[in-house]
Amino acid sequence: MIIQNYINGQFQDPIQDQWLDNYCPANGEVYGRIPNSSSADVENAYIAAKSAFPSWSQTSLEARSRILIKISELLESNLEKFAEAESRDNGKPISLAKSVDIPRAASNFRFFGNAITQFASESHESIGSNAINYTLRQAIGVVGCISPWNLPLYLFTWKIAPALAAGNCVIAKPSEVTPLTAYLLGEICTQAGLPNGVLNIVHGLGTTTGQAIIEHPNIKAISFTGGTATGAHIARVAAPMFKKLSLELGGKNPNIIFADCDYKDMLETSVRSSFANQGQICLCGSRIFVEASIYEKFKIDFVEKVKQLKVGHPSNDETNIGALVSKPHLEKVMEFIDIAKNEDGKILCGGNKVTVKGFEDGYYLEPTVIEVHNDECRVNQEEIFGPVVTIMPFHSEDEVLQMANKVKYGLSATLWTNNLKRTMRMSNQLHAGIIWVNTWMLRDLRTPFGGVKASGVGREGGFEALRFFTEAKNVCIKY
Ligand code: NDP
Repeated sequence: MIIQNYINGQFQDPIQDQWLDNYCPANGEVYGRIPNSSSADVENAYIAAKSAFPSWSQTSLEARSRILIKISELLESNLEKFAEAESRDNGKPISLAKSVDIPRAASNFRFFGNAITQFASESHESIGSNAINYTLRQAIGVVGCISPWNLPLYLFTWKIAPALAAGNCVIAKPSEVTPLTAYLLGEICTQAGLPNGVLNIVHGLGTTTGQAIIEHPNIKAISFTGGTATGAHIARVAAPMFKKLSLELGGKNPNIIFADCDYKDMLETSVRSSFANQGQICLCGSRIFVEASIYEKFKIDFVEKVKQLKVGHPSNDETNIGALVSKPHLEKVMEFIDIAKNEDGKILCGGNKVTVKGFEDGYYLEPTVIEVHNDECRVNQEEIFGPVVTIMPFHSEDEVLQMANKVKYGLSATLWTNNLKRTMRMSNQLHAGIIWVNTWMLRDLRTPFGGVKASGVGREGGFEALRFFTEAKNVCIKY
């Protein structure tokens, strides 16, 4: 299968005719080629985007909204095709792609197609000065969107949809590891009537194609989701050009379980929050802290449930844990399991590669639970981003709060308790941009999304995203 860039509404080969292999994680085979785009391809995308702006920003809100909602409908009517592509490219169970990834990508377009028609700006009357101030929210121009491989279409569209809704023209790069659904999206955008040049999708390596986007002096804003080290690099490159930046980065999220919680709910959700998408979600609760009085019971029940998870080919409807995204990533996760053993961590279950019959070269790993004795050990501090969680007991609210906050990250935290006062105290003090209480990954697209500390800068979601993708201009009229 040949994937091409989508520039000015046309599918195109990369100018320098350089290509990369695209691997199927489920069997380790190469099944496609993708452009290894150079800065010349990014420049072409820029020229196309520039020529589509400002006419796109001057298109009526109703017309923009109609096109975005049409994209959403086309994604829904092509759900099977997109879910198969996502599962094949990423290794995630097809059931997950069908129930979460693709429906949420469609929701992103529908939500921002509607939200833009409700996006209002404030006015302030300066009483005593006989003046009125109002705020214009103007599209920025050409913006860059760069996304990772774990929730490929879901996160790609989480950026593109608000950027387009706000009237910008976009140059977007999906991860080179998972380009397929972004490629298919181009065709749908054309079908939905998105004018040529408004969205341009350029494939290639982060270090070349991505770098050309962030270095481009006229791409005025970058919305990036990915690793913390890449985010820091982007911030360094972008700062001298005063680009607007939104950085959604890594996480090492605590899942804090108090004895007074609804145990059954907590147990089931904790299995999901640990291992959904092979643990490759920035929001996964990868550090589980359990109140000492229920620790031994939890340990037995949790491990028993984890052992029941079926590791298998992603296209099998019975599969709970599919393949990890790539061979290097599998090796990185395995290294952390060795680190845990050297640091005196106890592997309670998992820890080994899995051979799936007929797909022996796929990147499969058992869901792994590690009991740790020191919250400062590496597996408890560093983002593993795989099907690996740590567990340890705690004795007081203060102790767990300290341990929860003692990491460089601050993306999300989950709290299991029925004590309202404790919920309020803990939610106020946890270092995280998102707190879930008695649930996990329940998302309402109107809410702000993002992290603190090394988990990022800025917020996406709802009107926050529309604010990011517009410039505010104050107009003061004396009367
Ligand atoms: P990376 O940081 O490696 O890559 C993310 C994207 O950036 C990819 O498209 C990558 O391209 C590109 N990129 C890499 N280098 C550069 C560069 N120099 N300039 C511009 N772009 C570049 O992250 P992963 O893809 O490995 O994704 C996993 C990470 O994403 C985890 O840390 C995870 O926590 C984080 N994440 C954060 C989320 C959040 O909302 N906070 C949500 C989901 C994931 P390529 O892949 O082609 O190299």
